[in-house]
Amino acid sequence: MSFADLGLVPGLSRAVAERGYATPTPIQRAAIPAVLAGRDVLAGAQTGTGKTAAFVLPILQRLGARLHAAPRALVLTPTRELAAQVAASACDYARHTSVRTAVIFGGVSERPQIEALRAGCDLLVATPGRLLDLAQQRFLDLSQVQCCVLDEADRMLDMGFIHDIRRILKLLPPERQNLMFSATYSQDIRALAARLLRDPATVEVAARNAAAERIEQHVYHVPKEHKRHLLVHLIASGNWQQVLVFTRTKHGANRLTQQLQGSGISAAAIHGNKSQSARVRALEDFREKRVTALVATEVAARGLDIRELPHVLNYELPNVPEDYVHRIGRTARAGGSGAAVSLVSPDEAPLLREIEKLLKRSLPCAPLPAYGLAAVSAPAAPPSHATPGAAGQRRDARRPHAGRPHSARHSGRRPHRGQRYAPAAAIPRTRRPV
Ligand code: AMP
Repeated sequence: MSFADLGLVPGLSRAVAERGYATPTPIQRAAIPAVLAGRDVLAGAQTGTGKTAAFVLPILQRLGARLHAAPRALVLTPTRELAAQVAASACDYARHTSVRTAVIFGGVSERPQIEALRAGCDLLVATPGRLLDLAQQRFLDLSQVQCCVLDEADRMLDMGFIHDIRRILKLLPPERQNLMFSATYSQDIRALAARLLRDPATVEVAARNAAAERIEQHVYHVPKEHKRHLLVHLIASGNWQQVLVFTRTKHGANRLTQQLQGSGISAAAIHGNKSQSARVRALEDFREKRVTALVATEVAARGLDIRELPHVLNYELPNVPEDYVHRIGRTARAGGSGAAVSLVSPDEAPLLREIEKLLKRSLPCAPLPAYGLAAVSAPAAPPSHATPGAAGQRRDARRPHAGRPHSARHSGRRPHRGQRYAPAAAIPRTRRPV
């Protein structure tokens, strides 16, 4: 099946061919005809499935030609990076049409965005906050919007955008087409879909809440204090050229970036406290393989599209299990394959259980490689059967006290029988892993 078979006009089919797309992806096959027919759509799609083209292409076709007026299609995204990416794709897909795209998001000067709105655009891609700002200042007329897309809707709700979204929807004409894309389905997402969508075509290209099948996933059970040594070892021994590393906090991202740099690994951090230009630069350096490790918090990494990203590493597990699916979706995009590795310290065992519950399967556990410090806190003796290290580590990690630092001994809670602690003081700070 070709893009033309889906009903796309030659200008758009040509643009995707020039971009190197030979055949439509499953989400494109399902969504494009429905959007072209003017239907509302509820799409459950994993990241990396080609969902952007699945809504942008038919929207461009319905827009037809440039009108030099207020936007007629609006795409809302949770993050600046995703907004920039969707807009860049839209410009590219629209290259043989006269449709004009503009993008607005926070963290950068309003001026050029206001100028772009003044010049007129047909398709507007925006993050909710800046959109409301500019609408309130009357730089933006949303009264012509015929189609509204909520991209990564689950993420928008996670980020607390529900009130902004409601306010934006009130500014739009009531008669319009609505499309909603979400990688995961929570009660809140279902409720929003029920309010927003009229008789939607539901498009499901993967099992709900399922992580991409092509992604090879495994976990290492490792004491918290050893994580950075293991990470350095994995990068060096595996000769990793590009790894996206997730931490839970901005501070943690900064600290790990410095530690990696101190170990001779080129690294950059990307998180919400960084200026937009620093984020763009870090991303560009990573894309161009000038830095090996991009250390990111959840929010910043959302929507990043880096072609053929081979490794995603969860330095810390996310608090929300759905975020695991989003994180690992950064690899194995659009037909490629990739590996997602999680470093799980004993205190994260409950988070791992939640993730496994969501995935409806347990994640395979890899034996710890000899990263130099492993011997300091080797877990209790493994059973004698297959992958002994893995099984033993896993069992230990699920114990609440496994690997607890020295101070934990005095917390009043008793260690399990046979459990050895990894006293923080015993970790030689200056020693580098091999
Ligand atoms: P998305 O899920 O929209 O973020 O897209 C993920 C990646 O897949 C992007 O790099 C797209 O350029 C690419 N892509 C989208 N559609 C296709 C296609 N039909 N064939 C090959 N690559 C595609």
